[in-house]
Amino acid sequence: MSGKKRRGPIIAIDGPSGVGKTTVSRLVAEKLGLRYINTGSMYRAFALAASEEGVDLNDVKALEGFCARARITFDEASGNTLINGRDYSDRIRSQTAGELASVVSVKKAVREFLVSFQRRIGSSGSVVMEGRDIGTAVFPDADIKFFLDAPLEVRAGRRHIEVAEKAMASKEAVTSELEKRDRRDIERANSPLKKADDAIYIDTGELEAGDVARLILVKIGERLKVGDIRS
Ligand code: C5P
Repeated sequence: MSGKKRRGPIIAIDGPSGVGKTTVSRLVAEKLGLRYINTGSMYRAFALAASEEGVDLNDVKALEGFCARARITFDEASGNTLINGRDYSDRIRSQTAGELASVVSVKKAVREFLVSFQRRIGSSGSVVMEGRDIGTAVFPDADIKFFLDAPLEVRAGRRHIEVAEKAMASKEAVTSELEKRDRRDIERANSPLKKADDAIYIDTGELEAGDVARLILVKIGERLKVGDIRS
C-alpha cells in the first residue's frame, strides 16, 4: 500500500449490484465534503475500452497485454475514469457495459491493474470509495467499512428502473442477469464479493437511499467521536 500520508478518512462501501451503493455513497461523500470514487465504473470503462480495441475478454494473455499498454487516469472534477484519454461515461451505465465488466473483473491481471490504480488515487484519504472489495482487498485498513445488502428481488426491481435499455429488458431478464453477476462476483477466486469481518452490515431492502445514508452518517459520527478516524 502507498506510504502517502492520509489527509482524511477512507470510507469503504461494498455490496452486490442494486443495493443502492452509488446513490448512498454520493450522499455520504457530499454531506461530509469527501471525494466520491465509484470503482465499478472503472471495471466498466476498462471492459468497454478493451472490447473496443478487439481484445478477447476471456483471453488472459490478451488482457494482460491490454493492462500493460492501457493508460488509465481519473478525472477528480467529474469523477470519471479515462482509458487512453477516452471518457466512457456516456456508455458505462448500460447493461452491456455491466455484463462486460463482470466478465473481466474475474481476471487476476485486471484486478491487480485496477486495484493498484484505486489505491493510488484513494490512499491520500478524504474519500468514500464504493465497490465489491474495497473493505477486503483495496483498503483493508479503511477507517470505517459498510456492507450493503438486499434481497435479489428488491435489487432487481431497482436495477430494472435504472438500466438504460429498459425498454428491451424485462424484469425477469434483469433478475436473471443480476443473479448471474452475483454468482460471478461471489464465486471468483480473486477478491470475491464478501463482507469484511469488521464491516457494518446494512440491509437496504426496506430503506430509502436517504435513510441508508443517514444511518451511515450516524455510524461515522459515532466512530469520529471515539477518535478512530484520522480526519
Ligand atoms: O458496481 P457496478 O455494477 O458498476 O460494477 C460492475 C461490475 O464490476 C460488477 O458486477 C463486478 O463484477 C465488477 N466490480 C468488481 N469490483 C469492484 C467494483 C466492480 O469486481 N470493486
